[in-house]
Amino acid sequence: MRKYAVPAIMLIVFETVAVVLWQTKDNLFYLFNFSYIGISISLGTFLFVRKYKYARRIVQLLVGLYMMLYLGLIRGENMQIEGFWYYLFTGVFEAATIHYAVAKIFGPLIFGRGWCGYACWTAMVLDFLPYKVPQQPRKKLGWIRYITFSLSFMFVAMLFLAGAGNIERIMFWAFIIGNLLYYAVGIILAFTFKDNRAFCKYICPITVFLKPMSYFSLFRVKCDTDKCISCGKCRKVCPMNVDVTDNSRKRKNGTECILCMECVKNCPKDAL
Ligand code: SF4
Ligand code: SF4
Ligand code: SF4
Repeated sequence: MRKYAVPAIMLIVFETVAVVLWQTKDNLFYLFNFSYIGISISLGTFLFVRKYKYARRIVQLLVGLYMMLYLGLIRGENMQIEGFWYYLFTGVFEAATIHYAVAKIFGPLIFGRGWCGYACWTAMVLDFLPYKVPQQPRKKLGWIRYITFSLSFMFVAMLFLAGAGNIERIMFWAFIIGNLLYYAVGIILAFTFKDNRAFCKYICPITVFLKPMSYFSLFRVKCDTDKCISCGKCRKVCPMNVDVTDNSRKRKNGTECILCMECVKNCPKDAL
């Protein structure tokens, strides 16, 4: 039964968040929202433990589509980084601020960049592209993320400074246009660099939060060095160029790990 500990822990963590927010905010939506996400994620990890090939993709679609279509388009909540700045400026601890706190700022201390592997609606589409494993060496372009991060902040700050009217509506359209832009840039980069996750590696502003927090992640893939025969298969199948055989926190590209478990599935010696 020990192998089912991870799905159980994920369910407990999300249910705890769901109940705490439901009670403190007196809003049943939080119970529904975080229960749905928690059940989807624990279902995926359960299927993974049962060695079902498409476990991760199922979670990605369940959570990604729900967040983009229901929360973003139907409920009109901008869950992109602009939405986070917007709610932060207005001092409202709701929607995007809660989402960021749980999935992208404090959550990564527990589950690292699980968001990127199992829930992000941008990567949900990019992962359908043909370059699941990068075909070219990694580029030194990670600095671009700080520019997109700053631009998103300045965009929202300027709306407030200019006293723009109906910012809610602007945020709704920013969500739609921002997503279309992310998909377009992500697809172009994937084909240019022959790497589905090029957008995640070089452009995505959210990694400015995700990377430092996931450095301390509780959940991480570790290598049993007694079993490892240094065949290099894990590095070959890794979409994020992580040196997973190094158990230290400073492993190469360690904060890029999206917990996709491709390395674990492909290790011939079950060393991971
Ligand atoms: S790096 Fe950004 S685009 Fe990529 S999966 Fe994570 S949040 Fe999504
Ligand atoms: S695939 Fe397994 S055995 Fe091969 S290098 Fe990686 S951890 Fe070691
Ligand atoms: S293949 Fe392994 S090291 Fe690479 S991102 Fe997936 S879980 Fe992390």
